[in-house]
Amino acid sequence: MTADIKIRKTTQSRLSEVDFNNIPFGRIFADHMFVADFDGSNWTNMEICPLHKIPLHPATMAWHYGQAIFEGMKASIDEQGNPLLFRPEMHANRLNISATRMCMPEFPVDVFMDALSKLVYIDKKWIPTHEESALYIRPVMMATDEFVGVRSSDTFKFMIMTLPSGPYYSKPVSLLVEEKYVRACDGGVGEAKAAGNYGASLYPTLLAKKKGYDQVMWMDAREFKYVQEVGTMNIFFVIDGVAVTPNLSGTILKGVTRDSLITLLRDKGIPVEERPLSIEEIHEAYQAGKLQEVFGAGTAAVVANVNRIGYKGQDMILNPDEYKLSPMLKTEINGIRKGRLADKYNWIHPVGVGVLTD
Ligand SMILES: *Cc1c(COP(=O)(O)O)cnc(C)c1O
Repeated sequence: MTADIKIRKTTQSRLSEVDFNNIPFGRIFADHMFVADFDGSNWTNMEICPLHKIPLHPATMAWHYGQAIFEGMKASIDEQGNPLLFRPEMHANRLNISATRMCMPEFPVDVFMDALSKLVYIDKKWIPTHEESALYIRPVMMATDEFVGVRSSDTFKFMIMTLPSGPYYSKPVSLLVEEKYVRACDGGVGEAKAAGNYGASLYPTLLAKKKGYDQVMWMDAREFKYVQEVGTMNIFFVIDGVAVTPNLSGTILKGVTRDSLITLLRDKGIPVEERPLSIEEIHEAYQAGKLQEVFGAGTAAVVANVNRIGYKGQDMILNPDEYKLSPMLKTEINGIRKGRLADKYNWIHPVGVGVLTD
């Protein structure tokens, strides 16, 4: 479907104000955004327009009752200057999984692809060219009824904004095994990229930071025994030559990067296990000298090496300089993302001038 998307371009680009050699993550926005309104039965008012603030009533339901979800994905540019989206349909589908769980309307995948392609094409000069840089894409949906009282909103707003970004975590990260707070429980909303999940993670993360760690490593909510994930990343452990990552149990986010890494590893003949993984097993592997690598996997960082894991008052110390799989995976993903390596898994969606002329 080519939906009716109005296009209104800026007359005052801010592009020349940006120092592409020094882009602080999350603060610099490209010129345009996509906006659509759900009127209770249909998505309407679809427009690509200059990025702008939206006036909201104090009773806007998203703020009170938490119907708010988002996505995070990336566009790169190849050496010929063509914008490339990385696995956009998977993100569109996940947005709709989050929407269903939070009682929000799905956004049609074909319209998502059309809007995103047009938006990225219009702002393609904002895509950084540097190896580990990209245009970060942030779709977000929120409840907009002005109403006090707990029920689902009837109206919603969907927006896509984009941000040029440099390398996300340049340094390895340290993690603290969380033994009091939980991120998600069986039957909860852990599988949704729902705003409230992140609000709930901030206080435990603050406590971990006070103890000298960058992030919390979440455990299962039932026994505090099985590893779940980290911040906004899934997690991989290389134990005695086998890459192990927690299985998708419904309490962890179904990461696109996680899926991509598993595919790459298997293709290279490296055994991968998706299964419940206890912190005790990790600790034993560490003590036996078999814990070779630990890294997080997510769109923003792609692969973030872990150099220390705090557990029961002691640290497991790792040496990312000796990691082999993690740098290989990062090079592969970046090569595919930038169009240098063959796209043999069909992950790349090129955006050509044709997107604006249909
Ligand atoms: C977004 C996110 C991830 C990573 O997903 P990607 O699709 O790889 O970016 C992992 N865990 C959580 C909690 C997240 O929000």
